[in-house]
Amino acid sequence: MSTPLTLYRPGLVAGRDAQALYRATAPEFSGWLEHTRSAGGCSRPIRLTGTIAAVDRDTGRILNEQHTDELPDRALYKACGNRRESQCRDCAWVYQGDAYQVVRCGLAGGKGVPASIGRHPVVFATFTAPSFGAVHHRHVARHTCRSRQRCDCRPAPCHARREAGTCRHGQPAVCFARHEADDPRLGQPLCLDCYNHNHQVVWNYFSGELWRRTKQSIERHLAALCRKRGIPLARIVTASGKVRWVPPVRVSHGKVAEMQRRAAVHFHCLLRLDGVDPDDPDALVPPPAGITVDDLEEAVHAAASKITVTTPPHPDRPQGWLVAWGEQVDVRRINSAGGELTDDKVAAYLAKYATKATEATGHCSTRLTPATIDNYADPEGNHLARLIDACWHLGRPTGTDTTSGAATAGDRQDSLDTKPRPYAGLRRWAHMLGFGGHFLTKARRYSVTFRLLRDTRATYRRTEDDDTADTITVGTLTYVGSGWLSEGDALLANTAARQRREGRRIGREELAHEAWLTGAAA
Ligand SMILES: [Zn+2]
Ligand SMILES: [Zn+2]
Ligand SMILES: [Zn+2]
Ligand SMILES: [Zn+2]
Repeated sequence: MSTPLTLYRPGLVAGRDAQALYRATAPEFSGWLEHTRSAGGCSRPIRLTGTIAAVDRDTGRILNEQHTDELPDRALYKACGNRRESQCRDCAWVYQGDAYQVVRCGLAGGKGVPASIGRHPVVFATFTAPSFGAVHHRHVARHTCRSRQRCDCRPAPCHARREAGTCRHGQPAVCFARHEADDPRLGQPLCLDCYNHNHQVVWNYFSGELWRRTKQSIERHLAALCRKRGIPLARIVTASGKVRWVPPVRVSHGKVAEMQRRAAVHFHCLLRLDGVDPDDPDALVPPPAGITVDDLEEAVHAAASKITVTTPPHPDRPQGWLVAWGEQVDVRRINSAGGELTDDKVAAYLAKYATKATEATGHCSTRLTPATIDNYADPEGNHLARLIDACWHLGRPTGTDTTSGAATAGDRQDSLDTKPRPYAGLRRWAHMLGFGGHFLTKARRYSVTFRLLRDTRATYRRTEDDDTADTITVGTLTYVGSGWLSEGDALLANTAARQRREGRRIGREELAHEAWLTGAAA
């Protein structure tokens, strides 16, 4: 079959501008532009081939069937959907908008979340990793700058010590530099050999478990307070008809992980107090009056200082590693009188981190394999190479991968110790420097879901495209490749997408979101 659409052979034209001109002057250009529209802004769309059918929603009858061979470029284009800004700006922009909505609805309500949750006590807490060795850092005692992103305040000297000295490897143990915010030395160890790379990657790897236990401890602390103050348990009846007595207060969270320059993760968490409605356990109701934001703050500090994880035995360290929070746990109130933290600021702050991964460390790669690991891991190399090497080395298959006998009944450790090959995942997450968690997570009750936002957007587009809502599109598609067929195609599709976005706003909220982003960047 030969249609004029298949005449386009990007490989035959050299140079981006020539490719773009070639495409744009072809008769089928407007059809191509429309065809690629849903992936237009994406930098590396996925191309799919196969049969697609429009099916009547009510009768299930196939109304129309088409093979992708009949379409421009003989393929369907689908946006990559990558949340990382460094991978695809457009898809990350969409994701960031969703993340902003998810976080904000959890603070102020909206999209099905009751507005009354805006009055629930909430704190914004930052949990840090401890030190694994001295690194070059920038500490400003009191910021006077307008934007932290472009801070030009005078920092304190990096590592000032009265007795200048060297470590046992002969490296200077002091640094009197006042580092600029963009100094590439920031986050780098003063001495690579003194630094405990193993401990750091293990910390990253088990940080999710540390968080899980911390949140549990916060909830237990609050439940104990309720008991002490005579606030009764809530009697709920489960779906299966069983009666359960539960604490009258719950904590819903939204959190993002931020990879610091030294490549340890931080968690920024919103913790909101909710009550329990015995008649409707899924409803979002205010907490009992006897439990306040002060109690929540106290519970966070108590949990952060007390909760630790002892990791399972490893041949390189039979006693395991201690995984605990760093000393600084910053807890702030939101929307409090005179406070600088508002719903919008916090939501935008978290949404920004949701589109990042390891970029701050300077490392950016996809999953590492035995074939590629040597390009990145080096036990004698720089900070990153040593961290990646530590992941690969500690995650190796070892002789003691069977269940260890260390766990005893009732021991809180048991879930970790009985896991077969508890360190194996370090290899899987070597490109994330050990961190295997999601960058944005939330409690089920915290807010709307990403799925709801995506579905709403899809429905909106469908209505907008004047498609009938009575049909659904189904297809059996296979992957043919990633990316645009030429740089010229990428230029055309991306430009069209940008123009659409600038020329016609999708909705007031997205407009507001963009306005915020522009304001924050200025
Ligand atoms: Zn994309
Ligand atoms: Zn320094
Ligand atoms: Zn500053
Ligand atoms: Zn040293």
